[in-house]
Amino acid sequence: MTSPIVRFAPSPTGRLHIGNARPALLNYLYALAHNGRFVLRFDDTDLARSSEEFAQAIEVDLSWLGVAPHLTLRQSRRVALYDAAAGALRDSGQLYPCYETPDELEKRRKLQQARGLPPVYDRAALRLTADERARLEAEGRRPHWRFRLEPGVVAWRDLVRGDCAIDCASLSDPVLLREDGSYLYTLPSVVDDIDVGITHVIRGEDHVTNTAVQIRLFEALAPAHRPPVFAHHNLLVGSSGEALSKRSGALSIGSLREEGYEALAVAAVAVLTGSSDSVHPIRSLAELAKEFDLAHLSRNAARFDPADLGSLTHRTLARLDYDDVRERLEAHEIVGFKAEPFWLAVRGNLTRFADVLEWWRVVEGEIAPVREDADLLAAALASLPQEPFDETTWGAWTAALKATTGRKGKALFHPLRLALTGAENGPELSLLLPLIGHARAAARLAGG
Ligand code: GLU
Repeated sequence: MTSPIVRFAPSPTGRLHIGNARPALLNYLYALAHNGRFVLRFDDTDLARSSEEFAQAIEVDLSWLGVAPHLTLRQSRRVALYDAAAGALRDSGQLYPCYETPDELEKRRKLQQARGLPPVYDRAALRLTADERARLEAEGRRPHWRFRLEPGVVAWRDLVRGDCAIDCASLSDPVLLREDGSYLYTLPSVVDDIDVGITHVIRGEDHVTNTAVQIRLFEALAPAHRPPVFAHHNLLVGSSGEALSKRSGALSIGSLREEGYEALAVAAVAVLTGSSDSVHPIRSLAELAKEFDLAHLSRNAARFDPADLGSLTHRTLARLDYDDVRERLEAHEIVGFKAEPFWLAVRGNLTRFADVLEWWRVVEGEIAPVREDADLLAAALASLPQEPFDETTWGAWTAALKATTGRKGKALFHPLRLALTGAENGPELSLLLPLIGHARAAARLAGG
C-alpha cells in the first residue's frame, strides 16, 4: 500500500473541543500507524463566520495535543481551483442553474410529503427553456447551482461501518454554489481531496450521506482515480447523550489545557471513548497509534464523562518517565541531579502536573512544618542518620524510632510526615527523605 494521506478539515468558526479533536486525532493516528501524512485543511470558504484567530487557536490546540501537520491549507486561498472544477461540471451539463426561492422549495417539499413522496428535489430547473431562464434573470433572480447526481446506488466499504450503500434516488441534487457565487462545503472538499491526493477520509458519522454525493463528485471530476477510502466514526456525546457542541465552551481544548489536564489524557479520552478498548492512560500518541484500529470503534454514540479526564490525568502522569517530562520540569526550573529521582518519587501523587511545584518546594525550598508530638520529633532528630541517605534510610530510621519510642503505625509516621513535608499525604518518604537531605530534615524536626 502506498503511504496514506489523511486530512482534518475544521471550519475555523470556533475553538476546537474534545468532540472535534476526535477526528483530528483519529486521522493523525492513522497517519502515524501507516507512515502517512496528515494535512490540516481549514474549510474557511464561509468568510463571514471564519476567522484567522480561530484558525490560529486551532493550530495551537492541535500542537498541544501532539498533532503536527505535514501541510496546512486554507480553502479561501484556493477558490481558483473550485472555479475551474465548477466550470468543467457546467460545461458537461452536470452543474445546472436553479432559480427556486427557499419558500418555493419548502412549498414543494410539503406537497411531496402530503402525497407520500420522498422530499427530493424534482429537477424542475432542468426543464426550463433558455427563454424561461432569461425571464427569471430579468426579474433579478440569480441562480444557485445543483450537481446532477448520476442515478443508482453508491456503495463503499467503510473502515468503521463496514459495507455502506446509499441510493441516489433518495437524495436531492446537492447545491454546490449559492446565489452569491460562494461555495458550499461539498465541492471544495472534493476538489482539495483530489488535488492533495487524500487516500483516506476519516470523519464523523454525521457526514455519511455526504459521502454518496462526494463519491459521485469524485467520479465526475477525477474519473481515472479511485475515490478515497472512507471511515465514519461515532460522535462523542455527553454522559446523558447530549451533543457536545452545546457545551463546547467548557470542553474546549483550550479550557481543558488551562484546567491542567494532560494532553495525553485528553487524547486518550477523545480516541478511546466509544471503542472496544477501555479508556486507559497512554505514554505517547505513537504508542496509541500502534494499538488502535478504526475498526475498534463502536457504531453506538460514544458517551463521554468529563470526570474521566481527572483520573486519567493522574494515571497518565504516574506512567510518564523522566525523559517524557524533562523539558516541562526544566521550564519550572526543576533541574540538576535531583530532578530525575524527584520525578520518580512524585509522579504517582500528582493531580495535575503543576503539583510538582509544591513537591519541589518540599525537597528544595522552605515549607511550614506542622508540629505534632514534640517528644517523637525530638527523638527523631536525635536519631536522624548521617548522610549519605538512600532509599533504605527511612526504613532503618523509623524502625529504630519505633523501638525507642514505642510508637507505631500512624502515631509514628503521621507526625514525621507532617514535620518533614508540611502535608498530610504525599509520595513515599523513603524516596523523599534522600531528596530533602539531612540539613533540611534536621531543621524541620527542630521546628525551623
Ligand atoms: N469542514 C467539515 C466539517 O468540519 C469537514 C468534513 C470532512 O471531513 O469532510 O464538518
